[in-house]
This record gives sequence, structure tokens and C-alpha cells, in this order.
Amino acid sequence: MKPVIALVGRPNVGKSTLFNRLTKSRDAIVADFAGLTRDRHYGDAKQGGREFIVIDTGGFEPEKPTGIVAQMARQTQAAVAEADAVIFVVDARLGVSGQDHDIARYLRTANKRVLLAVNKAEGMQDSPVLAEFHELGIGTPHPISSAHGQGIRSLIEAALDDFPEDEEDEAADDTDRPIRLAVAGRPNVGKSTLINTWLGEERLVAFDMPGTTRDAISVDFERDGQRFELIDTAGLRRKGKVFEAIEKFSVVKTLQAIADANVVLLLLDATQGVSEQDAHIAGYALESGRAVVVAVNKWDAVDSYQRERCERSIEQRLAFLKFAEVLQISALKRQGLGPVWKAIAEAHRSATTKMPTPVLTRLIHEAVEHQAPKRAGLSRPKLRYAHQGGQNPPIVVVHGTSLEHVSDAYKRYLEGRIRTHFKLVGTPMRIEMRSAG
Ligand code: GDP
Ligand code: GDP
Repeated sequence: MKPVIALVGRPNVGKSTLFNRLTKSRDAIVADFAGLTRDRHYGDAKQGGREFIVIDTGGFEPEKPTGIVAQMARQTQAAVAEADAVIFVVDARLGVSGQDHDIARYLRTANKRVLLAVNKAEGMQDSPVLAEFHELGIGTPHPISSAHGQGIRSLIEAALDDFPEDEEDEAADDTDRPIRLAVAGRPNVGKSTLINTWLGEERLVAFDMPGTTRDAISVDFERDGQRFELIDTAGLRRKGKVFEAIEKFSVVKTLQAIADANVVLLLLDATQGVSEQDAHIAGYALESGRAVVVAVNKWDAVDSYQRERCERSIEQRLAFLKFAEVLQISALKRQGLGPVWKAIAEAHRSATTKMPTPVLTRLIHEAVEHQAPKRAGLSRPKLRYAHQGGQNPPIVVVHGTSLEHVSDAYKRYLEGRIRTHFKLVGTPMRIEMRSAG
């Protein structure tokens, strides 16, 4: 599971600047989840090879009317509760304030690892001002500059010190490994109904329901000879052998489950159509490169008018998931569930397909013969060969010269041909251009 770091502090100390720096430093993928919840921003971050989820909060603001203060304090507390480590950001230029003391007092009782980041400290490395922050009782102040990117790496290293590094999941091609499946969806779409229906099925053999770590639940099972691991699913709790929904939707859990999965089963509610929250979850799955199957649940409960409306909302709001299979099901009535398993297995196969270099290279050459990339100025991109750069999602790395001029439309054209050849469904894929010289 990716660790979670919350940024707290009063307004204007530089939390959003730090948040942006942490999330933008991610290789290619930036996910900002403003909109998933109103008060807190969630982002995927990467620093010095460590991946984590970062939460930005609005901060305490004790001068403002009490309604707002209370609201901000609440969301800060919620972020702290969700986090594994907290970075308390203060302002080197302004020194310690009364509000800082208030926040520090709260954080000392929060029973979380807390680091003190003294921001805006560019050019103040040896300033006596920094020592003043010891009085907050949060430990050694870490001088940083979010604006200039100084001191951030060691701050994050200190924050994540206790967390095991991610083992690279190179064993994806080990067929013995279970398919890691996340069932994601808003509260009430039918996640627990579906999972309980599955677990009650004769054709499914559940192996174990290991104990809980950080409230994580996970179930190993086998169906038609294929092993699955149902990974921690947001918004569910185990009660004996059955799962039940808990009211609170946890963005962090959803993000962690998606990041951990090979395949995401996105559940929608046919009676509701695609909500903004559904689209955000789907967008995150896409950006994480996960394989996706969309199941529209409660199909039993909608009339033809609602069905059409629901289908239209999928076309419009989930247009970016064109690669995903969309299936209609009823978890309650046990309808349409067989094809879901098939789609999950198929998406997984696609996501972990091996694409040999000679085959990819031939495909690239054939594609160019059929339609060459456009000339840009004096140079025409020359595609020489391609190799597979990764799985889940499949990444194809094209080598050649002047490839920076290859248009997005042309990349999509290449993607289409590669998809057709390898029969890739249910998984996003990436094409990277690598020019020599
Ligand atoms: P937030 O309210 O805590 O999210 O603070 P912001 O990230 O919006 O930053 C508040 C102000 O501080 C902005 O004008 C930033 O440009 C500025 N700021 C943020 N980080 C730094 C820094 O490292 N050095 C300096 N000098 N200014 C900074
Ligand atoms: P969760 O919050 O995503 O786990 O959702 P639940 O599984 O608790 O389901 C929420 C509500 O939707 C419950 O009242 C279920 O009985 C109902 N429900 C779940 N699946 C279906 C379905 O396929 N058809 C209908 N009509 N109702 C369903």
C-alpha cells in the first residue's frame, strides 16, 4: 500500500506550493483529485523513487468566523486521520505564531508521525530563526523551500523512513500469481452485495480472509482455475464471512486499492448514471495505468428510458475509457456475472501481454509503410524499431530519429495497430518515443 502524507499548517505557509511540487515531480503522471472531495486535495507523488499519496488541506484559520475555523479544523483532522505521516508546514519568514502553537498542540495528541517543515527557508540555511521552531515541540525543524525545491527530498525520506520500499512487481508474468482485483465505486453502488454474491457462489473457492492491517481487507479465491486476490476495497468492512458497506467513502483507500491492483472493476449504479465521483475514480485508474472493467450494476432496476440515459452518460463522461469493456449486471439478482470474470481475466491478459521486439518492430514498419508520419519542417520522423518498456500497462518504446515531431494522432494510430495485433482489451497502453540524437 502506498503510504499517505498529509500537509497541514495555517494558510499561506506554502502547503499548496509544496503539494504541487510533490505531485508534479511524478514522472509522467499527475493526478489531482480536487473535486473528489471539496476540502482536501489528493495527489499522487513521487520523490527519490518513493511513491506516496499526498493530501493538502485548507488549514486552520482561527481569525475567521468560527464556522470556517471549525470546518477547517475538521478537514485537517480528517486528513491527519487518513495519513501515515504528517508534515506540519510553518513559515520561516514570519516565525512562530500563536496559530502554529494551536496546531502543534493538536498534532502532539494525534498519535502520528509528525515532521516540522520550515518553508520559505531559501538562503536561510544557517539562520538562528530556524532554531526558534524547536519550541513547537514537534522535533527538529526541516528547513525547506517549496518554491525552489530545496530540502524536500530529505524531508520526504524522513517522513517515509519507517515504510518499507515498494518491491517492484516484476513478477507480473509469473502465472502462479493471483490477479489482484480492486472493486471500486461510490457508496451504494453495490460493492458489498457483489462481493458477497461472489463469495457465496459455489464456483468460487475462497481461501482465506487474512486479518486486518490498517483496516485492509483482502480475500484470496479461485474461480475456474484462475486465482484472484480481492484487495482492500474502500468503504467495506468484514463481518465474519460477509462484507458490509461502511458509510464513509475513503478517497485514500480507493486510491491505494487502485494503485495496488492489476485490474480495477469499476462499479456504476444504473439508476444514477455516471457521477462526477465515478469519473474521478475512473480517471485515476487510467492515470495509474490499471486495466479496467466497467460493470453497470442494478440493471434489474431500470426501465428502458433509464437504460438509455445511463448508456449515454457512460459514452459522454467515460469517453476516455474507450478501451474498457462495459457490462450490465445485477449483483442482487445474480445476473450477468459470468462475463465479468471473463472480462477481468481478458483485461489482465492484455495488460500483461508480452510483446517481442521483432514483432513490435515489424508492426511499426508496417504502420509506417501504410501511412508515414508527417514531415515537420526539414525533418521527417524516422521510426526504426520498438521494444516493450513495461507491463500493466503495456508500454511500447519506439526508437528512431526526430521522433519529437511525431504527432499525438500518429501515436494513436500506432496504438490502434498494436492493439489490434495483440488483441488488447481492457487496458490502457502507452507509447513512448525515444530519439537518438
Ligand atoms: P498555502 O495557503 O499554505 O497553501 O500556501 P501557498 O502554497 O498558497 O503559498 C502562499 C504564498 O507563499 C505564495 O505566495 C507562495 O508563492 C509563497 N511561497 C510558497 N513556498 C515558498 C517558498 O519556498 N519560498 C518563498 N519565498 N515563498 C513561498
Ligand atoms: P456498497 O455501498 O457499494 O457496498 O453498496 P451495497 O452493496 O451496500 O448496496 C447498496 C444498496 O443497493 C443495497 O440496498 C442493495 O440491496 C442495493 N443493490 C445492490 N446491488 C443491486 C442490484 O443489482 N440491483 C438492485 N435493484 N439493488 C441492488
